[in-house]
Amino acid sequence: MIAKVVVDVPTMQTDKPFSYLIPNEFASLVGIGMRVHVPFGKSNRLMQGFIVDIVSITDAHIGQDEIAVKTLKSISEVLDFEPVLNDEQLELAGAMRQTVFAYKISILKAMLPNLLNSSYDKVLTTTDLTIANRYFDGKKGKRFSSLDKQAQALMMKLHRDGKIKLSYIAESKAAIKVVKRVSLVDIDLLNDLELTARATKRLELKQFLQAHLAGDDWSYTELVAMFSREVIKFFISKNILKLTEIEVSRAKDYFEKVTPDDHKVLNPEQMVAYQAITQSQDKTFLLEGVTGSGKTEIYLQVIAHAISQGKTAIMLVPEISLTPLMTNRFIARFGDHVAIMHSGLSDGEKYDEWRKIVAGQAKVVVGARSAIFAPLKNIGIIIIDEEHETSYKQDSNPRYHARDVAIWRAKYHGASLVLGSATPSLETRARAQKGVYQLLRLTHRANSDAQLPVIKLLDMRQHLTDQSGSFSKLMLDKISEKLAKHEQVVLMLNRRGYSSFIMCRDCGFVPDCPNCDISLTLHMDTKTLNCHYCGRTQPIPYRCPNCESSQIRYYGSGTQKVEAELLDLFPDARILRMDVDTTKKKGAHERILSAFGSGEADILLGTQMIAKGLDFPNVTLVGVINADTALNLPDFRSSERTFQLLTQVAGRAGRAQKKGEVLIQTFNPDHYAIQLAGTQNYEAFYKQEMEFRRKLNYPPYFFTVQLVISHQDEAVAVKKSYEVMALLQEQLSDQARLLGPIPKPISRTHNLYHYQLLIKYRFEPGLEKALNTVLDMTQARENKALRIMIDNEPQNF
Ligand code: ADP
Ligand code: ZN
Ligand code: ZN
Repeated sequence: MIAKVVVDVPTMQTDKPFSYLIPNEFASLVGIGMRVHVPFGKSNRLMQGFIVDIVSITDAHIGQDEIAVKTLKSISEVLDFEPVLNDEQLELAGAMRQTVFAYKISILKAMLPNLLNSSYDKVLTTTDLTIANRYFDGKKGKRFSSLDKQAQALMMKLHRDGKIKLSYIAESKAAIKVVKRVSLVDIDLLNDLELTARATKRLELKQFLQAHLAGDDWSYTELVAMFSREVIKFFISKNILKLTEIEVSRAKDYFEKVTPDDHKVLNPEQMVAYQAITQSQDKTFLLEGVTGSGKTEIYLQVIAHAISQGKTAIMLVPEISLTPLMTNRFIARFGDHVAIMHSGLSDGEKYDEWRKIVAGQAKVVVGARSAIFAPLKNIGIIIIDEEHETSYKQDSNPRYHARDVAIWRAKYHGASLVLGSATPSLETRARAQKGVYQLLRLTHRANSDAQLPVIKLLDMRQHLTDQSGSFSKLMLDKISEKLAKHEQVVLMLNRRGYSSFIMCRDCGFVPDCPNCDISLTLHMDTKTLNCHYCGRTQPIPYRCPNCESSQIRYYGSGTQKVEAELLDLFPDARILRMDVDTTKKKGAHERILSAFGSGEADILLGTQMIAKGLDFPNVTLVGVINADTALNLPDFRSSERTFQLLTQVAGRAGRAQKKGEVLIQTFNPDHYAIQLAGTQNYEAFYKQEMEFRRKLNYPPYFFTVQLVISHQDEAVAVKKSYEVMALLQEQLSDQARLLGPIPKPISRTHNLYHYQLLIKYRFEPGLEKALNTVLDMTQARENKALRIMIDNEPQNF
């Protein structure tokens, strides 16, 4: 038999699987979807790969796939006992490959937890050999001296049959956490055990066991601490005690101390949505509901319904709102039927959660983008909350959108799909308009005491005169008023750091990053200038590097500077800052939120990461310090992003009895995105924005593909961009519009020059082939240093 293996070779990528002989020893052990180690290239280095097909040698001869069987290499090691990728996932990978322009291996790896993707040189260890030989010693059988294939195969079989326990990779000590327990085998043997009076420790253990018979199972480490390893070993050798290893979930802490919670009685609007969703199959819904309208309560009940039908569910939320606040709502309803998947988990925790899903113990998977690949069987419902969020699109290979994967999987399982948002993406809303998706609306807040907040736009051009630093007078007055009433304030400024740049007053010099075409941001806490693209840091200069002047000034404000201003203005207020810099450490994000939630602070200041999901009843004022940051980005979605962000952050105010107020400072009070965010009018925004998209042939009227060609040498980047352009012009119809090549808005990062091309099209059957030809350009020897990124339906420019 021959295995077709997609091999993970970073330097040489292709979708073509390589053929490897399956040694006889492994014949009964391998299967499609398992990982193997295979010798690769001239050096025969062992590489990890996935078996995607198994064919007999005669089949392999058929067709163009002529193979000289004699020259084939053999699989060296089998890494799994069971396939880690199931049939659905392999089929999905094939479907994704048609719209995602990255090689198959990246797609397969994206479906698995990290631990299974790291290549190891050795699988079975010498410890395993010892374990196996110990088994054979007892059986007076043969002994192994090395880990050859025969030994491996036999050891795997013994492991499978439960005769020995290997530290085999998939279940290696690193990948599974176990606790050792000691249990009583035979009470009579214990009582009959005769010990001399000198064996004091042994006597003590005997008495201890006799006194603690009620729980006939003890922690090995605790017993060792009390009586020593030797003594316990003695009892084990006498067959009185037995040592067992029990697997424990590393993620179990997430599930403890969550109080169970019951369903709420749905209000009439919620009920209509609930019934539409639960009475359907194989259908996609857009649940458009204002902030706080009870969307999450519907998700919970719809999932409960699916479970009652014996089905499973996937619940996707944006990474940043996947706080304990959020996951606890699911754990409170579904207990340990929940598996959590997000990037805050350690590799070990992720692996444990993944195995919980594979084993069929998890019925509900709550997670960020990659949770869409959760290997659940029999899915009844998939939900994507805040479906407009850009984090659902992966911005590295494979550049997939979780929404597209969800649509595919829902179809595969005959499941329903719910896309929820207060501000749906135009693409989704337009599909609902056409009737492709069913539109469900929630128009008021679910909590009957809560009303939508009152929003006021502050024209900063007029307020400039009485402006103190970053705040208009009105904003300052409001903050004082709330502080006096012991209510809480949320302030958003979508720029981190202290100042956005520093400049020499005498010569105008602005320090920028030598690797990236962008000015450095001042960070006061570390006293450094940081590049927000490549992470480079350098000390703050005291004198201008250009003219030696000491007149260096800070311009533009970031969260650090506003924090300093607030401390000056409100010396008694307790302030928490939340941005990338204060949330680097694991759990920091949660700690800040729970501190704010429990009233340990009066003001929460942060970047857009505070806009999502917060549900704190005592927040009565939300202040946006500068609404224009997103508006000025060179991206056709800048209005949409601005509208979404303002609506979202405004939704944090007045979520319970106390009425909420929102103040938005802007230099563009007449811009429709800001005006309409001010009146919370999504429908009007949708209409106006669609008009703009139609006029300029942007999505959802046209589809887009972005290509970015990068090289260290700018001349090469330009030359190759024109080659790509020519290739596309030749292969695409004249209906397709090609824009560029132009330098990217930030034209140089990480010491590479970037040129971009944009394809806009409506119907282009030749597109897939053309883009694959472009992708394969990078495989040519002369293009080794060239990078081509192909982003189908880019979300960010
Ligand atoms: P959304 O997800 O739309 O922001 P949530 O589901 O978080 O809304 O609901 C907002 C608040 O209203 C929560 O505190 C929630 O517990 C409460 N809530 C939701 N539905 C109901 C209901 N039917 N009855 C009472 N309270 C509800
Ligand atoms: Zn200068
Ligand atoms: Zn840089």
